[in-house]
Amino acid sequence: MKRTSASIYIGFTLLLLVQSSCVNWAARAVEKIPEETALHKNYTYDGKVIIIGAGASGLAAAKVLEKNKIEYIILEATDRYGGRLKKDTTLADFPIDLGAEWIHSNPKVLNALKGKKENQIDEELIPYHLNETGNWDGKEYKVNPARINNFMYHFMPESKFKTSTWYDFVDSNIAKTVKHKIVFNAPVVNINYEGSGVIVKTANGKSYQADKVLVTVSIGVLKSGNIGFKPAMNKRKIDAIESINFLTGFKAVMKFSEKFYPDALTWEVNDGEKVFYDISFKKNSKTDILGFLCTGPAANMYFDMESNDEVVKSLLMELDKIFDGQATTFFSGEYLIENWGQYEFTRGTWTQAFQEKTSALKILNESLNEKVYFAGEICDPYKQMGVPGAILSGYHSIDKLLISND
Ligand SMILES: Cc1cc2nc3c(=O)[nH]c(=O)nc-3n(C[C@H](O)[C@H](O)[C@H](O)COP(=O)(O)OP(=O)(O)OC[C@H]3O[C@@H](n4cnc5c(N)ncnc54)[C@H](O)[C@@H]3O)c2cc1C
Repeated sequence: MKRTSASIYIGFTLLLLVQSSCVNWAARAVEKIPEETALHKNYTYDGKVIIIGAGASGLAAAKVLEKNKIEYIILEATDRYGGRLKKDTTLADFPIDLGAEWIHSNPKVLNALKGKKENQIDEELIPYHLNETGNWDGKEYKVNPARINNFMYHFMPESKFKTSTWYDFVDSNIAKTVKHKIVFNAPVVNINYEGSGVIVKTANGKSYQADKVLVTVSIGVLKSGNIGFKPAMNKRKIDAIESINFLTGFKAVMKFSEKFYPDALTWEVNDGEKVFYDISFKKNSKTDILGFLCTGPAANMYFDMESNDEVVKSLLMELDKIFDGQATTFFSGEYLIENWGQYEFTRGTWTQAFQEKTSALKILNESLNEKVYFAGEICDPYKQMGVPGAILSGYHSIDKLLISND
């Protein structure tokens, strides 16, 4: 590959900045991890709270209420808890994350999420420092030089759970003590906060009353307008919700009898993101599992296909082009697909708060008349992204709800 002197200079400057940790994503993220959260405080509140959504954020908020013996229920639209966290134990000899997978922040964040103050991490983690990565532009496959992999790891030193998943982490550290309070199959369709309390209606016609409500549904669900608010949200709030970028997308997971692919392979596309990656990376596994993440408009051509079989067939065809037919040769026929972008109660993949306007983020976090509060990954004031952001926002927003004077 031909490189201009300008690109060499930019690369060299970036490398220096990374080494001095000026441009180190995780270094910035670790500085923002709060020392204490609502888990470290005591609350006396004698009202009733309804939490809408049993994802990481709603479950975290519930943990605070449970600890302080405050009356609450969680209304969850689906028949399971976890939201965008889901695991599979059928395809491989290790549990596979079908939703969130990486710990984008410093591992210390795991302790903050549990309310543990020491630095030692209990979980066995895999540092996500890849050895072999490549790039495919549809015609030519190029292996990236090692310095790119080193650069990426130093810029954003992510990790993954070695024998566990994000779902397991939330299940055992958060959901365990609150799951008995979840009302499943209860999609909320209306939140009426014009009287002295709040009345929440679900699609099956039931009404629930509370003094305050915490809404933790994804920004995609808020955008859809499927939850009505009475009085309606003001234009400022609606504009803030609309302004947030929440890309559609899906994850596919395929099982092979041999690893013929690199640790990660970026597939260049004009619009959106496509990446194949080795899910078995450093898992000490006997099963070879290849993941495929696709977000943004690039996902739409797959959504238009007739079946998941067709999606996998087209992925195998592309891999065959790169790796001389090895994908078809080694494919076991087993796969899983999670169409997160198309699920009614998710409607997207993830948000990236650092790309959004601070003013919009602030408005999203404002309550409606100090009765209806909001939490979820995009409401995280500590900019941790993803699951840590969702959990920390649950702690942050429930604190606000409990200490407000109304
Ligand atoms: C494919 C994929 C990969 C990802 N990878 C990572 C990663 O590697 N690392 C990372 O940190 N993060 C990742 N994320 C993002 C991460 O999963 C989310 O940030 C996090 O799980 C969000 O939690 P939440 O509680 O805010 O929202 P959600 O998980 O969306 O929870 C909201 C809950 O509300 C429920 N709900 C929706 N509508 C209603 C309604 N009307 N009534 C009642 N309940 C309702 C939903 O069913 C759901 O249970 C990924 C996400 C996806 C989809």
